[in-house]
Amino acid sequence: MHENLNIKMATNRTFTMLKPDAVEKGHIGAILEKINASGFRIVAMKLTQMTRTDAETFYAVHKERPFFGELVEYMTRGPIVAAILEKDNAVEDFRTLIGATNPADAAEGTIRKLYAASIGENAVHGSDSDENAAIEGDFHFSGREQF
Ligand code: UDP
Ligand code: MG
Repeated sequence: MHENLNIKMATNRTFTMLKPDAVEKGHIGAILEKINASGFRIVAMKLTQMTRTDAETFYAVHKERPFFGELVEYMTRGPIVAAILEKDNAVEDFRTLIGATNPADAAEGTIRKLYAASIGENAVHGSDSDENAAIEGDFHFSGREQF
């Protein structure tokens, strides 16, 4: 019974960042509007800026990729909005809402189709698994900041 409850909670949350390009272009409000309209509840949220060490740690899985240096520069160049979101099937539904990594491949109406400039500067992050959603949310927020 308790185990089932825990599994359900984990699958109901994802983690997002509105990346520096989205913040610079004034798209915070429009993107949050779409997130709310799509049925996600905001569990935690803040405007913050990642340090180099933060970005290298957050994206450590990509450290051997050719774009890693650019990715770290991009993600640290200005403030981001970090948030934990809750909804049934949160991880998968949020990935659908943001669209493909490359906005050229993103479906009409998705956040990346609407607001991303390129595969590098693609406006928004969404966790790719329940496990990573929990790790990424805990990277940015203490338990006391999660509602
Ligand atoms: N990225 C990039 N070039 C690439 C692939 C990814 O600059 O060829 C950047 C982009 O900002 C992307 C992030 O690295 O969002 C993480 O890549 P991932 O493949 O995990 O894409 P995502 O999960 O964000 O869709
Ligand atoms: Mg990813």
